[in-house]
Amino acid sequence: MSQSTILEPAREIPVSAEYDVLVVGGGPAGITAAIGAAEDGLKVGLLESRSFVGGNMTIGLPVLGFLGQKGNQIIDGLPQKLIDRLRAVNAASEHRPCPLHMGITLVEPEAVKTVALEMLLEAKVDVQLYTFVSDVVLNEDGTQIRGVITESKSGREAIMAKMVIDCTGDADVSFRAGAPTEKGNEQGGMQPPTLMFCMSNVDTDKLRTSIAEQSRTYLTDFIPAEYFGQNHQFIVVGLREIMDKARRERNYYIPNERTIIITGLKPGDAWINMTRVVGTDSTDVRSLTKGEIEARDQIKDISDYLINYVPGFENAHFAKTAPFLGIRESRRVIGQYVMNQDDVLGCAHFDDAIAVASYPIDIHRPGDAGCTLIWCGDCYDIPYRSLVPQKIENLLVAGRPISTTHEAMGATRVMATCMALGEAAGRAAKIAVRSGVAPKDIDVQALRRELVEKGAYLRGQNGDRLTAEAVSEAA
Ligand SMILES: Cc1cc2nc3c(=O)[nH]c(=O)nc-3n(C[C@H](O)[C@H](O)[C@H](O)COP(=O)(O)OP(=O)(O)OC[C@H]3O[C@@H](n4cnc5c(N)ncnc54)[C@H](O)[C@@H]3O)c2cc1C
Repeated sequence: MSQSTILEPAREIPVSAEYDVLVVGGGPAGITAAIGAAEDGLKVGLLESRSFVGGNMTIGLPVLGFLGQKGNQIIDGLPQKLIDRLRAVNAASEHRPCPLHMGITLVEPEAVKTVALEMLLEAKVDVQLYTFVSDVVLNEDGTQIRGVITESKSGREAIMAKMVIDCTGDADVSFRAGAPTEKGNEQGGMQPPTLMFCMSNVDTDKLRTSIAEQSRTYLTDFIPAEYFGQNHQFIVVGLREIMDKARRERNYYIPNERTIIITGLKPGDAWINMTRVVGTDSTDVRSLTKGEIEARDQIKDISDYLINYVPGFENAHFAKTAPFLGIRESRRVIGQYVMNQDDVLGCAHFDDAIAVASYPIDIHRPGDAGCTLIWCGDCYDIPYRSLVPQKIENLLVAGRPISTTHEAMGATRVMATCMALGEAAGRAAKIAVRSGVAPKDIDVQALRRELVEKGAYLRGQNGDRLTAEAVSEAA
């Protein structure tokens, strides 16, 4: 390379739209953020770089987080409405208790794309697909986003907004706007990504009964063998001994300590969560490309292992990969409050709680093939301040990159929680526009009241579900 930079000439670009609230990213957080913001008439836009909405909810993963460690439902409101709509077309399971994951809710990826889009359009959200947000336009002193710069088949354009919600998973908007962000653990290590893939013609009944009946041969992590005797939809995590045997006998390259199999909603389908590319940075396109290539290369040995060693896979075959490499971790904003491991493990209560979660700290370790899991025993609140970035006044963030430490993010990152955070950010943005103040200055108790009135789950000091009256009394 003879030159390391070039000067891009300034040019005039068209302003293609203006919104009260602009949501960037149409994953689990972005969907509920946009619907929440649009509910009573504001002009809301949603920009999504792919051809469909759904984000990681389209890569074959079960939605985790609806149930708490005591078995009660702790996410409701708009996230539950999406599941209800999916269930109406047989595209979601019940919230099934699971000893390791608390609750699993299976969803059909293709239906997520259609149903979530329908809900957005019904809410009158202006959805624009195939649109990548590459930059922001700031006001003179750099404290407010005036709009975002988009790249698409229509070229480079600007979209202006009073309030922006960053739901890109990678905190792209916050980072481009100059809001403080950080990445990974203290050494910068990030949880590795996984390219999910689907195997068809799996005898999932044989798989579960083999585990239930031959529990010394097919050992699972944290999930008692009897569970598999009773449940037709399940996640298998473990089978470490079988995998070690397969490695010894056939020299397979499997970059994961654990076999992770998720039954699909379609009979015979199983989604495999086992590729793993340590060192990938999703905010660096070359690293991301390398990660995608390496993950794809890992699939052959993993599927051969499953077919040759795991009961029920004898007649199975590789069906498809997910549409993109699944990113567990990248940037997080450093917000008004940085939620930490003690908050999660201490089951923290916050006066400005806008969501309740219970999922354990679940870190696919950045440097090796293992995973760290730590449960808190109950639920923890997520404070509104963790959705409010520093420095930029008209910006909120929801989903994976909210303001947490690496450890706390290992717990808050699951999709039911991300949807609850999206709903809170959407309603907060709406309140901010309506009352003409910055998100950091809104009446948080009014937000909490609206959340509860609209069906979201919040809890009181005694752990009971809060009513709107109780929020008012506490305020
Ligand atoms: C392999 C893997 C396994 C996991 N397992 C589970 C599980 O079993 N259950 C569970 O609940 N959670 C699981 N998670 C975690 C969960 O999937 C994510 O943390 C969650 O989806 C984050 O939601 P989000 O809305 O913040 O981001 P995403 O789901 O990543 O959505 C972000 C959206 O923004 C769009 N976007 C990004 N950048 C831009 C841009 N610049 N311009 C326009 N659009 C943009 C993307 O295309 C995407 O649609 C897993 C994650 C991975 C990767």
